[in-house]
Amino acid sequence: MFISERIVNDGVRALRDRIRGEVVGPADAAYDQARLAWNLAADQRPALAVFPESADDVVEIVLYARRNGLQIAPQGTGHNASPIVWNMDTILLSTSRMRGVTVDPMARRARVAAGTLWLEVTEPASEHGLAPLAGSSPDVGVVGYCLGGGVSWLGRKHGLAANSVLAIEIVTADGRLRRVDAENDAALFWALRGGGGSFGVVTGMEIALYPMPQLYAGAMFWDWEHASRVMHTWREWTATLPDEVTSSARIMQIPPIPEVPEILRGRNFVTIDAAIIGDRAFGAEMVRVLRDLEPEIDTFDMVPPVALSRLHNDPEEPMPVLTDHRLLGALTEAAVDAFVAHAGPGSGSAMLMAEIRHLGGALGVAKPGNGALAKIDAGYLLFGGGLAIPEMIPTLQASLGAFKDAFAQWDAGTAYLNFQETTVDSRSFYDELTHRRLAHIKTSVDPGDMFRSNHPIRGAE
Ligand SMILES: Cc1cc2nc3c(=O)[nH]c(=O)nc-3n(C[C@H](O)[C@H](O)[C@H](O)COP(=O)(O)OP(=O)(O)OC[C@H]3O[C@@H](n4cnc5c(N)ncnc54)[C@H](O)[C@@H]3O)c2cc1C
Repeated sequence: MFISERIVNDGVRALRDRIRGEVVGPADAAYDQARLAWNLAADQRPALAVFPESADDVVEIVLYARRNGLQIAPQGTGHNASPIVWNMDTILLSTSRMRGVTVDPMARRARVAAGTLWLEVTEPASEHGLAPLAGSSPDVGVVGYCLGGGVSWLGRKHGLAANSVLAIEIVTADGRLRRVDAENDAALFWALRGGGGSFGVVTGMEIALYPMPQLYAGAMFWDWEHASRVMHTWREWTATLPDEVTSSARIMQIPPIPEVPEILRGRNFVTIDAAIIGDRAFGAEMVRVLRDLEPEIDTFDMVPPVALSRLHNDPEEPMPVLTDHRLLGALTEAAVDAFVAHAGPGSGSAMLMAEIRHLGGALGVAKPGNGALAKIDAGYLLFGGGLAIPEMIPTLQASLGAFKDAFAQWDAGTAYLNFQETTVDSRSFYDELTHRRLAHIKTSVDPGDMFRSNHPIRGAE
């Protein structure tokens, strides 16, 4: 169902006259391609899809939406598109054609255009021995990731990526392009750093880069029959680590597909990935306990910062996925047993991947000047996912549901916006005071609720 044909046709014509980018309506042959998200399981049904090429284009789209009482769903890649609730009057605004990165190595900062992907920043930054607080996937969007928080391989040392954002360019519902930072529109700047995409269309962002002269990183793989031993050792190990070490442990059932290297194809593994800030001797000493478990594959070595972009081997091609997560206050021995029972040998799990990421360190410290997601109050992040192939969906949903339920007793009390891929109340991400403050800021910058985020902040009553 779409808004009336008149508005659709009028919108296509009016916007084509006003913007350099592309405008696609439901009657156009390109519509089905234009509405695709990275997550192919997200069935997006916008009234129009627009692909602005500049901030000026974005201003025109916002002014058009304002005049016609329409909503706008800003999107970078569509990695977290599944939770969006589509209305008959919502325009999909894809920033995928607004690309470009400028690295200033002296100031240790980068400016990115709205549609920039992480790899487009990590590569040039790495040439200067610098690293942004990028996530595990090279093709997640910088802007969407930072608006939601941003848990990176350097997170335990440097905190959430949202709190290393230095300035944001944004078009608000009044059609004004603003540059917000700690001195200008400070309340909006606060809300954007962890509050998500409810406040306007971000057209550019400036982020901090960190010197990484020495980095030891890699992965170790064991057959999943060793899952219990490896996971228990990892749990004990994480309790001893300095903030220089950020790691994740996974159980993976790797499909027998040609895209996967032969050595891994069709096999089931328990794996540990880690990034260690420091030299080879320090790194080797840190992972010694894991190495003593005699992994079948061990890729740890000194690496340039850009290597972190593919440390986790996240999928880079769009695909249909279904996932769930839970923040954990603690990881007890019983929790590790539950993890192996639900994802390991004999579990019958339909999840291709079950993961626990180690949080804590700077991720758990709210510094003065931080944004709406000032910290994550949880020691670990539980995550599971698989392919949303129609005939597999019920089994996968059952596996994910049982997996998540098994950890209810260790729940940390809040959820994490970036890893939430189903529709939930945004109150689940924040404490009450923070959510109330976000709602007041929403009312002041977007009183007509023009911007439709995947995890909306509603205006204050
Ligand atoms: C394979 C994979 C690996 C991941 N790894 C990590 C990780 O290591 N750490 C982590 O923290 N997260 C990770 N994520 C989660 C990721 O951070 C979220 O999915 C994030 O929302 C993706 O941002 P995006 O712009 O690519 O996606 P999109 O779906 O395009 O954007 C998500 C939301 O961000 C907002 N948004 C995006 N662009 C704009 C804009 N220009 N203006 C206003 N609002 C905007 C909108 O509300 C939009 O609905 C991962 C996800 C996947 C699928």
